[in-house]
Amino acid sequence: MNIYTKLNEKQFNIVITSHRSPDGDAVGSSLALFHYLKKKGHQVTVVVPDSYPNFLNWLTGSPEIITFESKPEEVETLIKEAELLFCLDYNEPGRVGDMQEAVINSKAFKIMIDHHLHPSDFCDYTISDTNSCSTAQLVYEFIENAGDLNLIDETIGEGIYCGIVTDSGSFRFPSVTPKTHLIAADLIQRGLNHSRIHENLFDVNTLNRLHLLGYALNEKLRVLEDVPVALIDLSLEEAEKFDVKKGDTEGLVNYALSVEGVKMAAFIREDKDRVKMSFRSKGDIPVNEFSAQYFSGGGHKNAAGGMCEKSLEETLVLFEKNIRVFFKNLTTDTI
Ligand code: 5GP
Ligand code: MN
Repeated sequence: MNIYTKLNEKQFNIVITSHRSPDGDAVGSSLALFHYLKKKGHQVTVVVPDSYPNFLNWLTGSPEIITFESKPEEVETLIKEAELLFCLDYNEPGRVGDMQEAVINSKAFKIMIDHHLHPSDFCDYTISDTNSCSTAQLVYEFIENAGDLNLIDETIGEGIYCGIVTDSGSFRFPSVTPKTHLIAADLIQRGLNHSRIHENLFDVNTLNRLHLLGYALNEKLRVLEDVPVALIDLSLEEAEKFDVKKGDTEGLVNYALSVEGVKMAAFIREDKDRVKMSFRSKGDIPVNEFSAQYFSGGGHKNAAGGMCEKSLEETLVLFEKNIRVFFKNLTTDTI
């Protein structure tokens, strides 16, 4: 079956889904695909499990995104009635949280476009490139393979660029290839204002967020003595003190990783019903394996996440214990 021919055959009723705690790649790639498919004449809706951070509000079409959390029945009906269901930026149904039953049970033809390791086999058509820096890059390539690059305008381009920039650490991660830069160049040639996108994404700090950063660096950042690991933890009480909003803690983990000599960093945050953890690493240290082994998580080699249902204090003790075992088991040439 040729998916590109199929999309030209008739107008479909399409729903685009993405993962829980949607990030810049989830929202950017979903909206880029949304505008592209609408331009081709399809009926399209974007749904996500829960809300996305405010710093993505500027994306054209973002007010039209429907969250399952706020409108569960409407989203269930949309997914049920869809003829085509796109699964963007996630590799297994568990990543859509409470929306997963609707996704699994949907009779729609399901198409995955994703770059996470170990894609599970729940879609009818799977585009998975685990070497790609972002799902947004794969959406560009999807449009390219459809022979539709001429349809890319500033609106489609901004979603693709947003996803690439946010998932590639502004073009710095090893997953960035010449193709990534060629895509950026092509988008700029098609009218994209890249500078405006960087401003929208990065020059939107609230004072509270910067105060939180100061506090986290001054009071909470620590480096373990016997392993090259730095961490920052944050309790619910501390988060409330700085009126932490969704997305405000994003990037904190990178400061921990930037400490000289540190090879792996963790940001460990108390949530209402669990402790959420973000891991980052340099070089060949596979934090996704650490996360999968000890904290029911996963992700990429250098950026992963997980969670723990114990208290914050217990989680921190467990983390310190597990990370020492993990490093002990790594071969010396990995470190
Ligand atoms: P972040 O630290 O930005 O929340 O997540 C980094 C990456 O780790 C994400 O792109 C995602 O692939 C992965 N990740 C984060 N949390 C989880 C989780 O709870 N389970 C799994 N399987 N992957 C996660
Ligand atoms: Mn992604």
